[in-house]
Order: sequence, then structure tokens, then C-alpha cells
Amino acid sequence: MSISNENTLQIAIEAVAAACSVTRSAQQAREAFGSLTKDDRSPVTVADYAAQAIVAMTLQERLPDPREHALIGEEDSGDLSSDEAQLTREGVLRLVKTYRPAADEAAVLAAIDSGSHDGSGGSYWTLDPVDGTKGFLRGQQFAIALAKIEDGEVQLGVMGCPGLPVDQATALDVPDPGGVIYAAIKGRGAWEFAGCDPNIEPMRISCDSWNPDRPLRYCGSVEKAHGSVSDASRLIDSLGGGQRVAVDSQCKYAIVARGQSDAYLRMPKNAEYVEKIWDHGAGSIIASEAGAIVSDIHGKSLDFSHGALLKANSGVIVAVPGLHESLISGIRELGLGPASEG
Ligand code: AMP
Ligand code: MG
Repeated sequence: MSISNENTLQIAIEAVAAACSVTRSAQQAREAFGSLTKDDRSPVTVADYAAQAIVAMTLQERLPDPREHALIGEEDSGDLSSDEAQLTREGVLRLVKTYRPAADEAAVLAAIDSGSHDGSGGSYWTLDPVDGTKGFLRGQQFAIALAKIEDGEVQLGVMGCPGLPVDQATALDVPDPGGVIYAAIKGRGAWEFAGCDPNIEPMRISCDSWNPDRPLRYCGSVEKAHGSVSDASRLIDSLGGGQRVAVDSQCKYAIVARGQSDAYLRMPKNAEYVEKIWDHGAGSIIASEAGAIVSDIHGKSLDFSHGALLKANSGVIVAVPGLHESLISGIRELGLGPASEG
């Protein structure tokens, strides 16, 4: 891996660290900000917009060549333009100004909309500025997930988890004041930055192979609509049972990567929903560089060569070595998948 990729990783870490600190304070003050509802009925907050603006501004400043900062971000400023969104717009500007005091509204909206790259050209970033917005609004876990995709493969990923305790013995359901950033480069490994501090010496992370003598630990979404809990528990029961922990956002990938959980199961509920690249780019490379195996429910690698959508995949299975294969054969034998739930 070239040095230029390491420099690029540093820039991505810097961008995500800035977004972590701004979104953490926005989460603490979330009652004052409220949220908008997007066309797909999902909530979006001042934090989602501000984080996208901050990451996009940082990438543009530090990587001025437009081919280097092309971005597919989850948000656009469309819903911010109405009169009803005025308070949200002001809130976004206020948050971005804590990072870039000179920013004005036009610059912030332009930065948000710079995330509308069409996926052409083979090399671009993808960003979920607040992954797990529902967790953010509940006062629980969320993540800022940034990944660089080249020729259909994730080359590097940075995931800020502002409320995730670095100490694995601490409960996950209340935000930790320090949080943690994870980062990975393809073929080079995955690292942990405690306290979301980009300037500390990071710790290398890895997961061990499955130990069948220990109770199996797995994680899934808090939101029941985002994955079939019943398919996941049928699968785990077929392997002798296990303990489920529910966590919002791509933090689940990190929880497997750092050896806290043996698997992350995202069993599709319906055949219509197609997973988005920003929900899996950063998480998947962090987990795989820590030694976990990442695929869809049929064992197929995630295919990042179809623009914003993981069109060629169904669901996601992340597991430590020795367990992943058993999960994929269990899914096949039980006939699990979108059709089994109707
Ligand atoms: P999680 O926090 O793991 O539940 O995932 C949050 C992500 O789920 C959001 O960023 C959405 O993009 C995504 N999502 C929304 N609807 C669905 C669905 N029906 N199935 C799977 N994922 C979904
Ligand atoms: Mg998301």
C-alpha cells in the first residue's frame, strides 16, 4: 500500500474526528434541535447535515483535486430548502461554525451537496454522516462512517463511534463520553483510536477464531425493521444458541472487529430493500482487516461496484473465522432469507 494511501487515511481520520466532536455535542442538545422526516420517512437531524458538510469540506480542502474528493454521501440539501426547515438550516450552520467559524449558509449547503457523486470514474468516497440516526435520537449509539472505494472495492475506511465505550466491559446502551474511532487500510490492518483522538498512538485490533466452547455472542439492529430478528435467532439456535446484543449503526462491525461479538447478522426482512454502500463501506473493511469475514447471507462478498447500492447482495453476515462458514451453511439449510418471512 502506498504512502499516499496512508496520508489519505490521516485526512479521513481528521475529518471523522471533527464530525465526532460536533455530532456528540449535537446529541447532547438534541431536544433543542429536533429532526426532519425525509421522503423515505426516515429521520434526519442537524447532526446528519452538519457532519456531511464538515467531512466534505475537509476532504475538499485537504485533497483539492476533484477526482480525489468525489463523494457519495447519504444526505443532500433538498429537504433543507423549505420554509419549515429554517430552524434546521440555522442549527446546521451553527454546528458547522463550531468547526469552520468562517462558513456561511451557501458554503454549507454546497458542501452537503458535493456528496452527490454518481459513482462513475471508479474512485470515490462514501459517507454516512450519522449512521443510526434513530440511535442518535434515542441517546444511544451512532457512527460517522467514511470509506474510499476504488474500482468496486473498499480501500480504506474510518468509522467514528462517538458514544462507544472503548472498554468492552462497559454497557453499550448509554453514550460513553470518550467514544472511539476505528480505521483500516486494505491489506494493512485495522486500528482503534481511543477517545476519538486522532493524535494518540492507535492500537491494532483483531478478532480471534470462534471458540465453540464459549456461548456464542452476536449482534443485530435495535430497529426491528432493519433485519429479521426471528431468522437470526433460528440460525443461532441451529448452532446451539447464543446471546444477542442490539446496537444501532455500523458500530456492530467494530464490535465484531474488536472481538466483543462473534457475529453481526443483518438478515433481510424483505426482498425489496437494497443495502446502501455508506451503511457498509467503512464497517466492512474495519471488520475484514481485523480478521473477520464479511459477506452477504449467501456467502458472496459485498460488491461495491454498483454505485450507491449493494445491488448484487442480500443482507450482511459478519463473523469471526470458524463461525462464518457455519452461519452461511445454516442459512442455506434452513432456507432463510427475505422470502421466509414474507
Ligand atoms: P442499523 O442501525 O444497523 O439498524 O442500520 C441503520 C441503517 O439501516 C440506516 O442507515 C438505513 O440506511 C438502513 N435501513 C433502513 N431501512 C432498512 C431496511 N428495511 N432494511 C435494512 N436496513 C435498512
Ligand atoms: Mg445509515
